[in-house]
Amino acid sequence: MNRISKIVLFLLCVASVEFTQAQRIQSEGLAAIDNKGNFEIYKFTRHPIGDNDIFIDILYAGICHSDIHHVHEDWGKTEYPIVPGHEIVGVVKKVGKNVTKFKVGDYAGVGCIVNSCGQCDYCKQGLEQFCEKGMVVSFGSHDYFHNNELTMGGFSKNYVVSEDYAIKVPANANIKKVAPLLCAGITTYSPIHFSKVSKGQNVAVAGFGGLGHLALKYMVALGAKVTVFDITEEKRQDAYNMGAIKYVNVKTPDELKKSQDQFDFILSTIPAAYDPMMYVKMLKMGGEMAIVGLPPTDATPNIPTTSLIYSAHRKVYGSLIGGIPETQEMLDYSVANNIYPQVELIPATPEAVEKAFKNVVDGKVKFRYVIDMSTLK
Ligand code: NDP
Ligand code: ZN
Repeated sequence: MNRISKIVLFLLCVASVEFTQAQRIQSEGLAAIDNKGNFEIYKFTRHPIGDNDIFIDILYAGICHSDIHHVHEDWGKTEYPIVPGHEIVGVVKKVGKNVTKFKVGDYAGVGCIVNSCGQCDYCKQGLEQFCEKGMVVSFGSHDYFHNNELTMGGFSKNYVVSEDYAIKVPANANIKKVAPLLCAGITTYSPIHFSKVSKGQNVAVAGFGGLGHLALKYMVALGAKVTVFDITEEKRQDAYNMGAIKYVNVKTPDELKKSQDQFDFILSTIPAAYDPMMYVKMLKMGGEMAIVGLPPTDATPNIPTTSLIYSAHRKVYGSLIGGIPETQEMLDYSVANNIYPQVELIPATPEAVEKAFKNVVDGKVKFRYVIDMSTLK
């Protein structure tokens, strides 16, 4: 290669590096900086807007207990700084040239799944959460489509995602309350439908928080008779207001009497150590229990097989969020039937998010904190 060719090649390389960097999206968010839950405002960049991508200006982001588990390293090591948030709703501001599902000005939602291989049997069935190559999650995940960059979540100004993994949100939706549907909504809607909960059935939800109160609303809407189990007195009246026929404070042993062999279906959203057999024994023969609560690794409950044998012909299974098609179905159903979470809006400041995390752990939220991302300074 002669000298001139080398200079031309060098200039081309410099230009292409600058071009690629220029394409990256500037963002800013609230990042956890340690496992104590301390937050700071943090600047970062997102991958460029690809031909199939949409660029969303985030309006609201819900705080799920999974964000808290992740930040607190309840399930394993976390890379900091990390911007949590996987219950995201916003307005589409730009679209790639192949995008057909969205146009500028539409509302869009993003939940846990932001990419997957798209080729395996699970992806083809719309069960991207079980992708054989592994799904890319909206935060704290190494995105194998984009040089393994660490994904940053929705406690931020914007998001870039393929239209295939974004959820259409109708223009008439109650937009301040939509974000929690993207995780809490689908995680409860999915097993309730998988177990075919129906009118007149006796069903229950254990853990009456962000997920639990949506589970109650979905099951009431289906015409089931719902009992709620939680550990506090504070939410008793709320459960009745939302349509429960019974509220059981599990800390009051008297209230647990006559609970055995009662239920067709139980959903457990409990995020801390508990005895799952207590609930299995409450199932009728043929009844089903779905578990979605994800306690810290060192507090994960075990099911003793002998007890299970003596509670024979009751089924217990786990459930993980829900695929993209079912998430769209859940969102359309929720908006059409006016099923929304009860939310408390908080400003996008480190102090407000730190306090919210603490309140969720201490059981002081009714029922979901949602961060108003437009207030991020
Ligand atoms: P919340 O903290 O909002 O709700 C949990 C509720 O469970 C609270 O009301 C809490 O009580 C109650 N609770 C705690 N211990 C018990 C107990 N022993 N018996 C009965 N109730 C109890 O959490 P979320 O709803 O946001 O999340 C729940 C769990 O689900 C988390 O572990 C989260 O990580 C997991 N999750 C799993 C997903 C999946 O795909 N499987 C997806 C999303 C979340 P109190 O009234 O004191 O607050
Ligand atoms: Zn979640």
